[in-house]
Amino acid sequence: MTEMDYFKDPIYITRPLLPDLEKVTEKMKQIWDSKWLTNNGPLHDLLESRLRSYLKVEDIVLFVNGTLALTLGIKAMKLTGEVITTPFTFPATLLSLDWNGLSPVFCDIENDTFNMDANKIECLITDKTSAILAVHVFGNPCCVNTIKNIAEKYHLKVIYDGAHSFGSEINGIPAGRYGDITMFSFHATKLFNTVEGGALAISDRSLAEKLRALKNFGFDIREDVVSSGTNAKLNEIQAAVGLEVLNIVDIERHKRRFLHSIYVRELSEIKGIRIVTSSDDDGQSFQYFTIEIDKDKYGISRDELYLEMKNRNVHARRYFYPLCSSFSWYREIESARPENLPVANMAVNNVLCLPYYGDLGEETAVRICRIIKQIGVQGRRHL
Ligand SMILES: *Cc1c(COP(=O)(O)O)cnc(C)c1O
Repeated sequence: MTEMDYFKDPIYITRPLLPDLEKVTEKMKQIWDSKWLTNNGPLHDLLESRLRSYLKVEDIVLFVNGTLALTLGIKAMKLTGEVITTPFTFPATLLSLDWNGLSPVFCDIENDTFNMDANKIECLITDKTSAILAVHVFGNPCCVNTIKNIAEKYHLKVIYDGAHSFGSEINGIPAGRYGDITMFSFHATKLFNTVEGGALAISDRSLAEKLRALKNFGFDIREDVVSSGTNAKLNEIQAAVGLEVLNIVDIERHKRRFLHSIYVRELSEIKGIRIVTSSDDDGQSFQYFTIEIDKDKYGISRDELYLEMKNRNVHARRYFYPLCSSFSWYREIESARPENLPVANMAVNNVLCLPYYGDLGEETAVRICRIIKQIGVQGRRHL
């Protein structure tokens, strides 16, 4: 039997994409000289226009983080009653509904992409439904056309949480062009980061103007308070980091695409492991590399694999675990009951995100795969 491999230093799920410190320092000097730290400064405006062209969207509004972007986007749309959404997401998706006094209605997910199952939306629509809030989970695109058709038929708004979809396309069209709004997160752990930060891609210019007021205490250009805004501005320091990260994000994506191919090559032979994140070059943001474990074929469960890997200093993540519908804040809701969400309740126990960032390197990726293979072989031996 071969010796079990293990890493001396921890291998993390991700590492933030950090630009050259000198380049950031240069930008900091600019900020110090101008003494303009926040409130739509020059770097904020430059980042906004650079992201508008990078993401190829009509308009974009920047925010202090993705959660407030989504919360204010939903507020600006003046939704009421119920919003159909997914339990398989980060709690921020759901909390943005709470802060607008809206009730989530959980829709089950598909068993291949783990995105909201568009075929199960219609039977959840009531006369209280005002919108569909879907997530492009792990960067795999939702069934955008089916969702669009349903929304048109029932006069619903469509909101996408595109936190995992930075720079990706769906059917050759930029992800941010689907739905009424798409949220992007620029949190440190995301492919593109501004330390903390977020944005909304919006096709309706008047909605974008409303959002520029909402993130700045409700002030319009004449400094009249025209809505119940808040403070959700992205500041100049965040913008400076973002501008430098944007210069290197394509290189990072390129490195991750290469790692994706290594993982696919090394893992596809292993029994009971399915690769969830597609390698469709345009469609993928390369934000995560995700696998699904079939316990019967692989030998041990996802949780056992997760712990075994941790023992070898490889820190994978159980995204998204637990399901949002299982959190105490949501589990009393009728649609949150496990029997209403059979696929989501199964998927949540089988999915694992592997360490994934440009600097991980081929050799480490290959060793991680070998460890996964060994753990499986050992597991099957004990069956
Ligand atoms: C990261 C993330 C968010 C939250 O974004 P923040 O910028 O951290 O507020 C929301 N939804 C999903 C799916 C995410 O992964």
